[in-house]
Amino acid sequence: MDREQFREAGYAAIDRVCDYFAELETQENVLPTVAPGEIGRLIPDAAPLDGEQWSDIAKDFDQIILPGITHWQHPGFLAFFPANTTYESILSDIYAGAVSNPGFSWICSPACTELEVVMMDWVAKLLGLDSSFHHASGIGGGIIMGSASEACLTVCIAARERALRLLPGTPADRLVIYGTTQTHSLGAKAALILGLSFRAIETIAEDKWALRGEELKRVLDEDKANGKVPFVLLATLGSTSTGAIDHLAEITAVAAEFPELFLHVDAAWAGVFLACPELRQECGLEAINKRSSAVTAAKGICASGEVHSFCTNLHKSGLVTFDASCLWIRDRKLLTEALDITPPFLRNKHSDEGTVVDFRNWQMPLGRRFRSLKLFFVLRSYGVSGFQKHLRRQINLAAYFEKLVLANPRFELFVPRRLALVVFRIKANTVELADRVNREFFVSVAERRDIFLTPTTVGGLYCTRVAIGTTLLTEAYLDKAWKIINELAEEARLGLPSE
Ligand SMILES: *Cc1c(COP(=O)(O)O)cnc(C)c1O
Repeated sequence: MDREQFREAGYAAIDRVCDYFAELETQENVLPTVAPGEIGRLIPDAAPLDGEQWSDIAKDFDQIILPGITHWQHPGFLAFFPANTTYESILSDIYAGAVSNPGFSWICSPACTELEVVMMDWVAKLLGLDSSFHHASGIGGGIIMGSASEACLTVCIAARERALRLLPGTPADRLVIYGTTQTHSLGAKAALILGLSFRAIETIAEDKWALRGEELKRVLDEDKANGKVPFVLLATLGSTSTGAIDHLAEITAVAAEFPELFLHVDAAWAGVFLACPELRQECGLEAINKRSSAVTAAKGICASGEVHSFCTNLHKSGLVTFDASCLWIRDRKLLTEALDITPPFLRNKHSDEGTVVDFRNWQMPLGRRFRSLKLFFVLRSYGVSGFQKHLRRQINLAAYFEKLVLANPRFELFVPRRLALVVFRIKANTVELADRVNREFFVSVAERRDIFLTPTTVGGLYCTRVAIGTTLLTEAYLDKAWKIINELAEEARLGLPSE
């Protein structure tokens, strides 16, 4: 393809993308109807020997790819979590593609590094994170990664390094990563990769499945008495199943008694809601920001009992197209001391002088995508007010759906609505019948193509999550989804032995 062909194909591609969004508004199905392997069989086994015409290639987006796409932007997409995309992000991916470079050191492209540094401070301010998390502090700062799981694994590496500096020679089998039964699988996965153990602390319904300080202290004391070294706690702000928010103020108070404990907050889904000041209390911002009195003594370096790092995904409800997982750390040296390897070919004057940030030393890979441009475009185009308006719209839609559930005596909320997540159950006369009807309901939901919901089990009980956040969602669409849910719930109920 030459430049003029690109020009023509590029204009056509933009037209196709615009038509796609228009189609989504009227298209019935959110899920594809293909069977496993069906799409793969439409694709040749190997690359063609000779190049093909662009017109033939472009056509296959419609003929091969789209039939196998689950439409995350469709209003009927209420599963997992939202994955917002925006025109501004799509455009930024085009520009980033043009200057394509792996930006691992400042010299690779000063603009890539410096834009990311400033963007991470923009987002930190947007969310109300304390200035100690900002690059401007000279001690803390943020970095954009591909996923919250990557961010979690990276901070676990930094936390292990920190623990081994505090307690040199600690055998690996004594180092433990802590989370709860509601922690995302990223905790167990980090432990698996690092060859360490993960302990999931039980949470209970009375606490809305959130971690409390008392139980945390009991578990940490118990494990320490058995020779274990609790070196990192993964607290959750907005758990995947129910949106549970761990009691961060209680947790930081307990953590202050355990100097080896690094505290990471996984706010992958819910963290962006901190952009709305009225939601900050619910999301525990004060505890995230609070500094310990030990800090002044240690010249600003993060102390035990403080949140060391915080991660949220702008690519969920934050209007930035996948991927943009933002990680902030209060002491950047915790990352660089664990991850800095500088062979001769990566040395340069500016890096050696320490006048620039080299993000390769903050992360696992060397190369990295130019993601900050997406943030720059989106945040300028929407402004803080537009960003907040988008989030408030999601909250209002979730509140609308919550009302529909509460108004129908055949349903109950499994937990109170959390931000834009509603989790419900179908009621029945006995626990056993409720279990059966909720399971049956789910089997029939899974057969639908026009609505996509995810089930979950919490404390052994089946429930259904309605994760609100696609930008095309409307109240009218929620009415439609609720009608389908009612019909399927009725069928599930009729299938039961007489109640
Ligand atoms: C979505 C989510 C994750 C996983 O995020 P990735 O970026 O896909 O790794 C982890 N934790 C929570 C609470 C989430 O909502």
